[in-house]
Amino acid sequence: MSDESDQELGITRSKEYETGEWYAELVQKAELADYAPMGGFIVTRPRGYSIWERMQSSLDGWFKDTGVQNAYFPMFIPEGFLEREKDIVEGFDPEVAWVTEGGYDELEERLAVRPTSESIIAPFMSQWTRSHRDLPLRLNQWCSVVRWEATETKPFFRTKEFLWQEGHTAHADSEDAWDETMTRLDQYRRLYEDVLAIPPLTGRKPPHDKFPGAHTTTTVEALMPDGKSVQGATSHYLGTSFADAFDITYVDEGENEQIAHTTSWGLSWRAMGALFMTHSDDQGLVLPPTVAPEQVVIVPIWQDENKNDILEYAVEIETELADAGVRVHLDDRENRNPGFKYNEWELKGVPVRIEIGPNEREENEITLVHRPDGETETEQRAGAVETVESHLETVFAKLYASAETTLQGEIREATSRDEILGTIGQHGGYVKCGWCGNEGCEDPIKEAIAAEIVMVPLDRDEDPIQEECAICGEAAEETAYFAKTY
Ligand SMILES: [Zn+2]
Repeated sequence: MSDESDQELGITRSKEYETGEWYAELVQKAELADYAPMGGFIVTRPRGYSIWERMQSSLDGWFKDTGVQNAYFPMFIPEGFLEREKDIVEGFDPEVAWVTEGGYDELEERLAVRPTSESIIAPFMSQWTRSHRDLPLRLNQWCSVVRWEATETKPFFRTKEFLWQEGHTAHADSEDAWDETMTRLDQYRRLYEDVLAIPPLTGRKPPHDKFPGAHTTTTVEALMPDGKSVQGATSHYLGTSFADAFDITYVDEGENEQIAHTTSWGLSWRAMGALFMTHSDDQGLVLPPTVAPEQVVIVPIWQDENKNDILEYAVEIETELADAGVRVHLDDRENRNPGFKYNEWELKGVPVRIEIGPNEREENEITLVHRPDGETETEQRAGAVETVESHLETVFAKLYASAETTLQGEIREATSRDEILGTIGQHGGYVKCGWCGNEGCEDPIKEAIAAEIVMVPLDRDEDPIQEECAICGEAAEETAYFAKTY
């Protein structure tokens, strides 16, 4: 291997100093995604897509365990349907892509490529909800949506088309709908914590930033290493606004017509962006074993005279691990040396590498190396499955602990406008302070450093951490968390 091709294979940018360039290089060189010929679109490569599938499978299982059914609605929405929604969701005006022709004919009514599906799902929820026995109605759709925003493409963070799931539910009363909202928020939090090894914050969006038409928007916020907050998923309690607009009513046990209460909730592939951004480093991708395409790679180290013995030993271990359900790959390529293989699998984010050379074979041992920090340990060959599983758990715990430490160190308190500006300007991260509840007090922060209130505590009755609004000095109503955002 020459130095030149090593250079081409590996990451050349610094995560700390050139985060944007580093990220763009990471997604391409770790074979997660490529840029499509049309600006704003990406191609998700098999390695990237398999990570999405693992996240999807966790979440989809939890949804189904809690009464959700998957369905699929058309990707095109008649313009009249979107117009109907505009009456209630004043302010929601996503950049919509339109279809105006089909085959050789101009369409009588333009069709929107769905920017979200409330307006086509709600009319059917109305039809399907007749009696209290039809409730709760819980639908989810896995699909892509399109928002024609003219911003720079950033794979999994900013693309015109993105993959997501959108849940839409109807309930007999507000209590049941609120429980639903919190169930989904909790499942999103669990995905971040237990699958992605990212401890997030959960809260409510301030009233001026909630989903248009929603009574309450709850959010999972994840802190990125560059000090910005990613809105990782949202769960909305919509009250009766959508039910009123789309006539989602039911007949109760006393034969009276009642209005339903609805929710909606969504998580997009932005969660993948957060995953890659959080754990990866200048050597490449770092993944928790929960979502890694390969959890373990075995790299045999041989000379001509011991090659067959070493490979035989490696195959035995590979088979034993694979039979136990570990996602393992034996890299027995002839034309690559071990050093090259180490670099390549580090770049691709395999959580644990097993090295097998003459010593390991003679002593009946295996040597394990952890991707996040290079920690190396030699263990007995016997009980390899348990040993490997324990090391995979340790790698997950290391990633989680590191993200947790970062998060805790990045939540600071400020008591004045200047202190908010200075603290976020210098450190990034979250700044919490007392807030009067007026949107106007967010403006000077937004204008000066493009930071905003990303959330307030979920509990409306929680006392603010300061008695006065840090910006205007009036009585504080809530604790606001300011941060820069993606
Ligand atoms: Zn104020």
